[in-house]
Amino acid sequence: MYILVINCGSSSLKYQLLDMDTRNPLAKGLVERIGLPGAILTHRAANKEKEVMTAEIPNHTVGIQLVLDALVHPEYGVLRNLGQIGAVGHRVVHGGERFAQSVVVTDDVMEALEECIELAPLHNPPNIAGIKACQTLMPEVPQVAVFDTAFHQTIPPYAYLYGLPYEMYEKYKIRKYGFHGTSHKYVSQRAAILMQKPIEELKLISCHLGNGSSITAIRSGKSIETSMGFTPLEGLMMGTRSGDLDPAIVSYIMRKENMNSEQINDFLNKKSGVLGVSGVSSDFRDIEAAAAQNNMRAQLALKIFAHDVKKYIGAYAAVLDGVDAVIFTAGLGENSGSMRDAICEDLDYLGIHLDDEKNKVRGEEVDIATEEARCRVLVIPTNEELMIATETLELVS
Ligand code: AMP
Repeated sequence: MYILVINCGSSSLKYQLLDMDTRNPLAKGLVERIGLPGAILTHRAANKEKEVMTAEIPNHTVGIQLVLDALVHPEYGVLRNLGQIGAVGHRVVHGGERFAQSVVVTDDVMEALEECIELAPLHNPPNIAGIKACQTLMPEVPQVAVFDTAFHQTIPPYAYLYGLPYEMYEKYKIRKYGFHGTSHKYVSQRAAILMQKPIEELKLISCHLGNGSSITAIRSGKSIETSMGFTPLEGLMMGTRSGDLDPAIVSYIMRKENMNSEQINDFLNKKSGVLGVSGVSSDFRDIEAAAAQNNMRAQLALKIFAHDVKKYIGAYAAVLDGVDAVIFTAGLGENSGSMRDAICEDLDYLGIHLDDEKNKVRGEEVDIATEEARCRVLVIPTNEELMIATETLELVS
């Protein structure tokens, strides 16, 4: 079966068409600047030249129509007709407490998704717009919603509740939800395959380190703790997000800098993190380059980040009562040997020892621990599209 995976952002849309017999993408692409002047569709079919098209794309429906046109285009398309698409899998950021699993979209589900908007006001509306567009354009094709939060719904209450009056949870659903669930689930399943052990027997710590970063403690294939919280702002310091803070700092900065709630939210989400500390960039490649040129603040940003990750690994080893493997994934985790080295340094008590040669690897599945090490350290490139397509296939077959 061919499955189309759609990931809608506010002004962008990523897509991939996968052949689930081979689990390979037939085509993938990106629509940018939806609703803005100069919208662009970049489409790449397997074994064909990249196509870049500019068009008026006022909304997601028009964007998805263009994607469908590209998929059946006689020159750069890959399908004879749209009837070949068996189902569409949509990435949805927030499923609240209602969705602990992916679901086939029904009217009831759409209603519940609308209710989750309050929890993810920036992310859920474009996700919903993408689903509605596909329902309009492909009314006969089943649509499936796959949630970033669903994998973390196994986290127990004593780990997901904050030290706030309980009414805050009852009234406003304030609790830890966690994100990047599709990625953590995918790499943990791959880890079990690579280690040739049933996932039920494994204690894993999965480090998704990219522009956004989160760490998850996984026991028997289930998330039991994760570093992101009510929103993706909690946890590790990230590209532009502060991560964990003393909450009193928030009102202190608001007073000192005369900021309102929107401005402080923007400040903590977009101007902080390694960008704020280094003053160089939110991109770890730029920061590593600046650090190599002895830029002190870039060096500090990298040290803070590695220290943060190490702290969480220690905490999650305690929560799991030991760890069989630490997994590194996403842009930084998959590619930066020096960051993996800095994180894993002096973790002897967990039985973590890197093989310097193997740690040079970039972007492929490999065990980078020494043979004798007690704990495996795995680099596993994430593949959220394949995970979304796999869950979609399971639900529609
Ligand atoms: P992602 O959010 O998963 O796309 O990851 C993006 C982050 O990964 C950016 O901060 C990149 O700088 C970082 N990244 C990608 N490739 C490398 C690399 N070769 N070395 C260091 N960081 C990298």
